[in-house]
Amino acid sequence: MRTEDGGRRTEQASVFGPPSSVKQAMQLFSLLHTGHFIAGQERPSANEAIFEVLNPSSEAQLGTAARGDAADAETAVQAARRAFPGWASLPPAARERILLQTADAVEANAGRFIDLLIDESGSTISKARHEVTYGANLLRAAAGEARRLYGDTFPNDKPHRLSLVVREPMGVVVAISPFNAPLVLLVKMIAFALAAGNCVIAKPSEETPLVAVELARVLHQAGLPPGVFNVVTGYGAECGTALVAHPGINAIAFTGSTATGVRIAQAAAPHMHRLQLELGGKNPLLVLADIDPVAAAETAVVGAFFHGGQICMSSARILAERSIARPFAEALAQKAAALPLGDLRDPATAYGPLINRAALLKVERHVADAVAQGAELLSGGQPQHGLTYRPTVLWQPPRQTAVWCEETFGPVTAVVPVADLDEAIALANESDYGLSAGILTNDLQRGLTAARRIRSGAVHVGMHSFQSDALAPIGGYGLSGYGRSGGKYSVEQFTELKWISVELGDGGPETEGRG
Ligand code: NAD
Repeated sequence: MRTEDGGRRTEQASVFGPPSSVKQAMQLFSLLHTGHFIAGQERPSANEAIFEVLNPSSEAQLGTAARGDAADAETAVQAARRAFPGWASLPPAARERILLQTADAVEANAGRFIDLLIDESGSTISKARHEVTYGANLLRAAAGEARRLYGDTFPNDKPHRLSLVVREPMGVVVAISPFNAPLVLLVKMIAFALAAGNCVIAKPSEETPLVAVELARVLHQAGLPPGVFNVVTGYGAECGTALVAHPGINAIAFTGSTATGVRIAQAAAPHMHRLQLELGGKNPLLVLADIDPVAAAETAVVGAFFHGGQICMSSARILAERSIARPFAEALAQKAAALPLGDLRDPATAYGPLINRAALLKVERHVADAVAQGAELLSGGQPQHGLTYRPTVLWQPPRQTAVWCEETFGPVTAVVPVADLDEAIALANESDYGLSAGILTNDLQRGLTAARRIRSGAVHVGMHSFQSDALAPIGGYGLSGYGRSGGKYSVEQFTELKWISVELGDGGPETEGRG
């Protein structure tokens, strides 16, 4: 297989013992195999178990990964704990330098990351390239934060006392990531935690373990000391639960579904592990009457169908003012139907397959249910090939339908006409989620009014709902989670504040003789 940088794919040596026949050996040779990455080394599971990793484009086996359990979680926690004092006590400038080196290394290894992102997660080449560029950008942004672990002082009520507030790393952070942007979402959680002096154990999605272990290898080769960043691969119910309920960790950063977030919060509660939860969304996009419906459709088609809607912030509920709602919806359906689907290595391809068959079945169920309950199908409504589903635009699904209330996480959006801005805001807020929203208008005053009244972690005026920035506080209201990641907000999330006060006795502040 040709790689992005033009070379042959380099296979990883199997760490799981010899194959039993020549045919099996040939088969294994063309597959990718990975172990956990703990204390700077790749290693198999303690019980040597593995699991299959599939390529969603072909649904064929891409490789295998170590299937971790509580024993591997234990090894990783011990490694991270051992590494913590050394990493935390490095001068900030040294952590900054190492993180800058890791950013360069991610870019230098772009070809391998891009191949893995395409083959393992069904990314298009454009999305894969973006993940690499943005991943490096996040590491550089985090490197800068290493020098900004600011503390504080405040005037103590007792004049002979001095009060200091210092910021300290927490210890070991467990970062659990989803499948849909396996490089960027993992980097976003780990980079700032590392910058603040923590050690990290990542548990990537069982759909996308290979890219996470590749990241660990690259960061380690770039100078991250052993044990500072570890990866345990496997299933959530096996190694994931063992990690989040481990008394030896200090904080958890989780990006994934709300259902899993609830389970993690329950498992973490007895230990009071600090939690940052970035969960699901059902994001509204308001289309106001002053905007050209065709131009609005141009923006909305990206917000709804980027990566086949497998984006937490995708524009899944579109509320359009009545005078332009139908022309907008028809333009959107036309643009959606024209999206090129196919070869993921062709830069023109809009999106690829859903991650697995269960995801495809969910999309089919949501669309069928909406149509059965009276929604009009304006485009799509069926699979294209394999796990790829055609971009689907629904008109006016009833408000109780799953497609309107629940996360579909696929290439489906729905347009509902509204009488005015008040109704648009009311319907936007009629959701248990509150992750992100977009407002398409040229009227800044109406846009800002809506932005203040919509209950969600982000509102983007003049844009669709899927936006990111390394320094922005990313997170949600309601069932979309709590805590924020990005820039200084991540640093706040992954540090402890300590109040130190000093009794100065007679050495208190000298005020006499001033003025
Ligand atoms: P998921 O919740 O099924 O899995 C996410 C991760 O949690 C995986 O690594 C999984 O193995 C692990 N996990 C599962 N059960 C666990 C348990 N009991 N203990 C510990 N770990 C466990 O999510 P997914 O299907 O991989 O990703 C899609 C979801 O992620 C969507 O809901 C999407 O909205 C959400 N998401 C949110 C954001 C955000 O920034 N808010 C970003 C991307 C994706």
